[in-house]
Amino acid sequence: MSTIVQQEILKLQAKGIRITPQRQAILQFLIENHRHPTADEIYQALAENFSNMSVATVYNNLRLLKKLNVVKELTYGDHASRFDYVTSDHYHAICKNCGLMVDFYYPGLEDVQQAAASLTGFAIDEHRLEVYGLCPDCQKKMATEK
Ligand code: ZN
Ligand code: MN
Repeated sequence: MSTIVQQEILKLQAKGIRITPQRQAILQFLIENHRHPTADEIYQALAENFSNMSVATVYNNLRLLKKLNVVKELTYGDHASRFDYVTSDHYHAICKNCGLMVDFYYPGLEDVQQAAASLTGFAIDEHRLEVYGLCPDCQKKMATEK
């Protein structure tokens, strides 16, 4: 188990959250496979180790971790939500062909919130940004298919 996982578990325990083996596995999966899985993907990955785990268990744990601000739920229209372990502010590049979602960091966009607030009078407290295109693998595939 990585140090980040251990630290996150200690923080949750300090808040009085019980760490069941399933809860720990879900948290560990989110932190160590930083690929923005859906609840179903988490279930598929962990089900063989936990015979009594259900998709509902995964959802309940994700809901709790979301409430505790440990994970973020990323919703995209009608598609299944993806879950992201909350690290520092970052943005996402999404492949239109295979759905791969990669983090990138781009400081300076905080100013947008300030500008939006003064332009609209809203009290802005968050923003998100996605850019769309083809990932390197899909670019290569497309190139060889021609
Ligand atoms: Zn792709
Ligand atoms: Mn992310």
